[in-house]
Amino acid sequence: MKRLLLVLWVLLYLPPPVQALTPSEKAFLSAKKELEAFSRSPKVRYRRYWLRIINRFRRVYLRYPESPEAPKALIWTARLYRNLYGYSHRRKDLEEALRRYRMLWEHYPESPLADDALFEAARIYRELLKEPEKARQLEALILERYPSGDMAARLKPPPREPPSPPKAHLQRNHAPASEAPPQKTATVKRIRHWSGEDYSRVVVDLSSRVDYQDHALKAHRGKPPRVYVDLSPARLSPYLKPEIPIQDGLLTRVRVGQYRPDTVRVVLDLKSLTSYRTFYLGDPPRVVIDLLGESPPPRKKEVPLKPPGRRHYSLAQQLGLKIRRIVIDPGHGGHDPGAIGLYGLREKDITLKVSKYLAEELRRSLSCEVILTREKDVFVPLIKRSAIANLKKADLFVSIHVNASPNRRARGIETYYLSFTTDPEAMRVAAMENAVSNQSLSELQNLLKKILRNTKIEESRRLAARIQHHLVRRLSRKYRGVKNLGVKKAPFVVLVGTRMPAVLVEISFITNPTEARRLRSEKYLREIARGIAEGIRAYINGIQVARP
Ligand SMILES: [Zn+2]
Repeated sequence: MKRLLLVLWVLLYLPPPVQALTPSEKAFLSAKKELEAFSRSPKVRYRRYWLRIINRFRRVYLRYPESPEAPKALIWTARLYRNLYGYSHRRKDLEEALRRYRMLWEHYPESPLADDALFEAARIYRELLKEPEKARQLEALILERYPSGDMAARLKPPPREPPSPPKAHLQRNHAPASEAPPQKTATVKRIRHWSGEDYSRVVVDLSSRVDYQDHALKAHRGKPPRVYVDLSPARLSPYLKPEIPIQDGLLTRVRVGQYRPDTVRVVLDLKSLTSYRTFYLGDPPRVVIDLLGESPPPRKKEVPLKPPGRRHYSLAQQLGLKIRRIVIDPGHGGHDPGAIGLYGLREKDITLKVSKYLAEELRRSLSCEVILTREKDVFVPLIKRSAIANLKKADLFVSIHVNASPNRRARGIETYYLSFTTDPEAMRVAAMENAVSNQSLSELQNLLKKILRNTKIEESRRLAARIQHHLVRRLSRKYRGVKNLGVKKAPFVVLVGTRMPAVLVEISFITNPTEARRLRSEKYLREIARGIAEGIRAYINGIQVARP
């Protein structure tokens, strides 16, 4: 009996057998896979390939009309016709899309996609065909038939109007990405976002450069405040979904659509907005939208009143300082090894080790919170690294790198902050760290004119000076011939858009025989971490002196 119970118990906890896919599931998944490959291939320029992929989905709903995959396949044929319109500009394609949306809500009224079909069709009427009356009819249908669905929720005004930002200085920028108009029509490939309480970054990935205009709208008649960016000439990738729900603090969702035959509009619906900035980055081409919510309340300067107990106050707390959280950025990682030097040394391994030592040092000597942009050997995009620092509301951002040069004799230590430069050596380092061409680099220089206003340049320069001084001093005590290359400025993508003092340290040259040998020893890496930590400490003390 006991044994029987045991067998029953084991059976109960065994994982369920892996379910084989049904034929309709298989067919749908393979069509979806093909679509994914198609959207990334140059075939998107040819109509016949579009029709072929549409046919793949069509076969799914024709062969398996009763399956749960049928309405899914149907909505994809509709979306594909709608996106094909971005390339063809043929009204007939829009009509084909509308016909399929209609099939969905008429033949599959019970499907959870029925209200999506109505919603997406309404948008085509309103935005592309300029027939608002038809759009309103479909929206009325949504509210009538699917009053508790997610599309109805989008149509209803929010229960409470979000408070309009108190110090709303909404900018209105008309920012061509360059003087010369681009020739090619760009494809909007993907939309990424990193979103937090009072800061969000949205990245629109493009196939080629594009002109863009950004606009902001205040909350109005129950509609939330919005930022929208028009990209032109541009069209949608067939794989892009029209909406990305986010619901994360500042940003509630991102919508994207073919607003005019040659214009893609990206709309960001917001809870609140105080300011925003947009900029273009090349290599790969993308438009970045940074949203800034209300700035966090000024941090209190007094020592906390809680009895200390066993926990003792950090130096920062004792001094009543503003520096509580530091983000350290170990350069490169994953498929990006950074510079490869002598002895097969890889920059990404060294930066991670030094960053971990540095985190240890800072936690111990300043008891402040330290966050690393990566803890392991993984790839993190440059544009995400500064976003992490902003999202975490860091007070300082320090990016760790190792220098490299075709000239083996090049050696030394240098610390950078973000600004224009005319120094060819600084340009070389920036080109290397940004992994971009020189042309993109000069574009980046132009971009700086626009965004430096919001950057803490003077503070960053001071932080760079302290780190450089203390790092060189510390290493010089133990090693011979440490070369001080000084504090420099250059346009680094990883520093663009940071809201706090931010620097990039090139700790040594991986290509110099002496320094490469030293970089192999843990002792040297620890000394570097200590030197940088001392610099950060001196910077913090400097703030204290400057603001008694
Ligand atoms: Zn690097």
